[in-house]
Amino acid sequence: MRADPGDYELVAPDSLQAVAALMARQPGQWYPIAGGTDVMVLYSAGKLTARKLVSIWNLPELRRIETRPEEVQIGAACTYSDLRNHETIVREFPMLASAASWTGGIANQNRGTLGGNIANASPAADSLPALLAYDAELILFSNRGERRIPYSEFHLGYKKHALAADELIRAICLPRRYGAYVSYCRKVGARNAQAISKVCIAGLGKVVNGTIEDVRIGLGSVAPIPLRLKETERALTSQKMGPALLDLARLTVAEQIRPIDDIRSTSKYRAGVAANLVAEFIEKLFAGTVRS
Ligand SMILES: Cc1cc2nc3c(=O)[nH]c(=O)nc-3n(C[C@H](O)[C@H](O)[C@H](O)COP(=O)(O)OP(=O)(O)OC[C@H]3O[C@@H](n4cnc5c(N)ncnc54)[C@H](O)[C@@H]3O)c2cc1C
Repeated sequence: MRADPGDYELVAPDSLQAVAALMARQPGQWYPIAGGTDVMVLYSAGKLTARKLVSIWNLPELRRIETRPEEVQIGAACTYSDLRNHETIVREFPMLASAASWTGGIANQNRGTLGGNIANASPAADSLPALLAYDAELILFSNRGERRIPYSEFHLGYKKHALAADELIRAICLPRRYGAYVSYCRKVGARNAQAISKVCIAGLGKVVNGTIEDVRIGLGSVAPIPLRLKETERALTSQKMGPALLDLARLTVAEQIRPIDDIRSTSKYRAGVAANLVAEFIEKLFAGTVRS
């Protein structure tokens, strides 16, 4: 450990309202900690600059998964294990359940939360492409009240996001309208478990009479933020399968992504894999095979 616990203060209020009141009194002073799987890595490396931590782990208001007629609301502090074991998530949002199953190891899945994955804002985070494809919305909470924003508007740049200094993510809302779609997701990493993605994808689509009626694609690790491939989606919509379509899709992917070289991979490899994954998704979409 390169950090001294004596330098830090940790409080654990027993309600969401009490957390929000604390953050409202000193905006930007109190740093939320949920499962701590990202925060404690920073702490042990001596890189956690925030000195006042407010725990939101186990607050009942953040640990519920509510199934409503039109959407499922996932409390921000639900863990990957909560998601993997929830019947509706597994059945209707298989890409999120899969991403949860390949995030870290079991210990990490018992602690790491979906809200933490979103707020930590790594472009390589595994759950985030699925949230883009499923058209997730976020409920943000503060002493001033609640506001709801599309998840696609949350990330503003590398590790920058739309949360105000006194705000928390309270819930992630998933519309229940994609149950009949073909879904496809993959993580390409050095290993199947305990590896950060080199590239990850979540694709949803619907083919009617041999033509793509609707398609939605999220990609991770190819840009400063998780990316929705809007241009590729536009190019694919209303098209029939054929080699020209795959070539067009590959071209649009190359135009939208901005992969980097880092210790895990190269920009060239990432670009090649991203195009291959999108092409594989389109093939599976027309074949009607689900991979999630
Ligand atoms: C060994 C290991 C393996 C991992 N493997 C993977 C992997 O394969 N894929 C992957 O995507 N990630 C992986 N991670 C990263 C991590 O587990 C996830 O990002 C996790 O979801 C973070 O959730 P948490 O609750 O632990 O967040 P914390 O560490 O508690 O917090 C992370 C950040 O989010 C903020 N935050 C947390 N909750 C909220 C909230 N409700 N509202 C506002 N801000 C909030 C915190 O202030 C902090 O900035 C791994 C981490 C470790 C240590």
